[in-house]
Amino acid sequence: MTDDRYSRHVFLKEIGPEGQSRIAASRVFIIGAGGVGCPAALALVESGVASLTIADADAVDLSNLPRQILHTPERIGMNKAQSAALALHAVNPDVPVKVVRDFVDEAKLLDLARDCDIIIDASDNFRTRHASNRAAKALRKVLISASSVRYSVQLAVFDFRNGNPACYQCTFPEDDATDVKASQTGVMAPVTSIAGMMAAEEALKIAAGLTPVSVGSLLILDTLSWEFTRMKLASDPDCPVCAKYR
Ligand SMILES: [Zn+2]
Repeated sequence: MTDDRYSRHVFLKEIGPEGQSRIAASRVFIIGAGGVGCPAALALVESGVASLTIADADAVDLSNLPRQILHTPERIGMNKAQSAALALHAVNPDVPVKVVRDFVDEAKLLDLARDCDIIIDASDNFRTRHASNRAAKALRKVLISASSVRYSVQLAVFDFRNGNPACYQCTFPEDDATDVKASQTGVMAPVTSIAGMMAAEEALKIAAGLTPVSVGSLLILDTLSWEFTRMKLASDPDCPVCAKYR
């Protein structure tokens, strides 16, 4: 049965049975069960990862429903990570989902990330993005940072397992970070799912043992013009995070 379930991955020559076995051994941690985190979690659990940890301290709200595809009207008021886990269990009960209902501060992030292989930051604020960058760098994990506002997707992929590649802080210094939130600027509903699905695809490639071209890059997709930009991330020689965890 399991073989049937994942056969479309196994058919892919880049993945094959070995890649799918690696996916089945990969533990993923998603920060945020919102517009980006929900679709990413869905794709990863559908794809049979070893386990998923999902963290969100917020409760489901009516205005979330057009984008946050794991939540339902019946679950308004329920914690988002808990609501997501219910939906994920229905889709694939073979994948254990750990629910984290607390706000993930830096210490908690480090604690949760330690037991995972790939971290997807689907949070909605720069404070958490920088904290997850520091945790991933300190623990030498893979970090995929995905966000969406208006008609725009941003995806940055960092592989800290080897060497000392550019980090999130190198590209987006914490001091001059202007927090642009979809909750204030608006976002076209499918754009959040595109961001989440892009993050999930890159996570699955890395889990399968591939080295996607996105590693060490920032991908920007503008869905109004459908222009796609990929730029290589450069290390900042003065980056305090890179200096600390070199
Ligand atoms: Zn850095």
